[in-house]
Amino acid sequence: MSDIEIAQKNEEEEMLPVRQIAEKIGLQDSDIELYGDYKAKVKLAALKNRSVPKNHKLILVTSINPTPAGEGKSTVTIGLGDALNQLNKQTIIALREPSLGPVMGIKGGATGGGYAQVVPMEDINLHFTGDMHALTSANNTLAALIDNHIQQGNELDIDQRRISWKRALDINDRALRNVVIGLGGPFQGVPREDGFNITVASELMAILCLATSITDLKQRIAKIVIGYTHKKQPVTVADLKVQGAIAMLLKDALKPNLVQTLEHTPTFIHGGPFANIAHGCNSILATTAALKLADYTVTEAGFGADLGAEKFLDIKVPKLGKHPDAVVIVATVRALKYNGGTALSDLQTENIQALEQGFVNLKRHIQNMQQYGLPVTVSINEFVSDTPAEIKRLQELCHELGVTAVETKVWADGSKGGLTLAKAVLASLEQPVTYHALYDNNSAITDKVATIVKKIYGGDGVEYDTKALRQIKTFTENGWDKLPVCMAKTQYSFTDDPKKLGAPEHFKIHIREFVPDLGAGFIVALTGNVLTMPGLPKKPAALNMDISEDGVITGLF
Ligand code: ADP
Repeated sequence: MSDIEIAQKNEEEEMLPVRQIAEKIGLQDSDIELYGDYKAKVKLAALKNRSVPKNHKLILVTSINPTPAGEGKSTVTIGLGDALNQLNKQTIIALREPSLGPVMGIKGGATGGGYAQVVPMEDINLHFTGDMHALTSANNTLAALIDNHIQQGNELDIDQRRISWKRALDINDRALRNVVIGLGGPFQGVPREDGFNITVASELMAILCLATSITDLKQRIAKIVIGYTHKKQPVTVADLKVQGAIAMLLKDALKPNLVQTLEHTPTFIHGGPFANIAHGCNSILATTAALKLADYTVTEAGFGADLGAEKFLDIKVPKLGKHPDAVVIVATVRALKYNGGTALSDLQTENIQALEQGFVNLKRHIQNMQQYGLPVTVSINEFVSDTPAEIKRLQELCHELGVTAVETKVWADGSKGGLTLAKAVLASLEQPVTYHALYDNNSAITDKVATIVKKIYGGDGVEYDTKALRQIKTFTENGWDKLPVCMAKTQYSFTDDPKKLGAPEHFKIHIREFVPDLGAGFIVALTGNVLTMPGLPKKPAALNMDISEDGVITGLF
């Protein structure tokens, strides 16, 4: 059965009303706002007076660099949460919200797979509780207010050639990357070049995910730099005096969304900044809710550990006030063989040598996570084509690094297939944690970037374009240099070239530009050709999707 068929069968026969899911974690009817029978938002007031239990354990799931062979990070995260609950460890899962861009483009659904899924999967993958729409509206309201300010006399002297705030849409639409607006004469606005970001790449998404309250949200929005004056001075939302209006538009989007897995594990799905452009983790409010309402939280960071986990640890953790107690790295035999040079079409065939060659990718990720002082377990997400010899060899290779690697069959068997992983993770929680940050925010921008490049990517150093060098100088003069750096890099490689697989050595990372995301509280370093508005592939996933007269959806995955 396909993912959607499994989900639909469960939705019809077994899904519990979300009120019962809320009740399981101690939330009353008055603590939640229902969005139909199976989705709810949790009121922020319901979380305010609760504290995180002292022995709460936070488990971070991450992975090797993604490949077209698939890794199944969300699937394992969900299966692990279900398995921990099976072992009577009260667990909540915290995931990111899918963006319509990847759903309609290459990825299909983003709610796990097989027997490790969250439901109702169609709703979550499509419009869910409207958070993406609220973000899109808020983003574009700000854009309209900027253009209106210029039209109405431009009191702030905004240079229309230096406006960095773009419009947004939550779909892959390459035709909107660069546009000209305001054409048609004096009554239609002031013509200027503009562009669109995908909503999940908007700074507002990052802000929503890092904000801890409405007040914090508003203060962060106030700090957004929307562009520069003719004298090259930064202009912020506070200068436009519209932070209140923009925060107001996000008042419901800020509340965590509660749903369930196929096995009724309470799951928060909230916020989804891209991990290649932004920080790639679900919201602080949802993670905090999970921390407060259960004994164990299983959460996921986007893409490979070089992007998602690094940013989880260096950007999210300081704001969350809690570091993970253990890390799970998801790997597949197929993806490692692909990293070892096997063509996509040959991945079904046993190939121990390619597995050994591709293992270098997993090895570097393991060592990276260990650098933070965190215990690591490897989850081998089993595909039907894996052979016993390949699994055994992969376990041996991990064992040589002192790391347990566990066969995980949650896709095929649900929680039952994740019990061994859950037990291994529980055992890893007994290991000493000596967590420490990778870099000091007070160090220079160039030092922070160099630390990430050398210690996480395994590179030799960094090359900066003239523009980036100029920006380092002005950012430092503006006092923006004490913020963490959010690397915008391809997810496919440790380098900034998506084709360099495995664990390349002797390379430099090329930084062309920095973006001050002062509201989010980080500086984005743009490397290579990372796009903030992706395009659709030749055969978009949308081609397979349909809906029948009675509302049954097919092809969502
Ligand atoms: P990620 O979070 O790494 O992007 P997902 O968990 O969303 O990956 O899974 C991507 C796709 O791969 C889903 O359609 C899922 O059903 C499929 N998948 C995951 N694990 C397996 C597996 N072990 N066998 C077959 N398909 C799998």
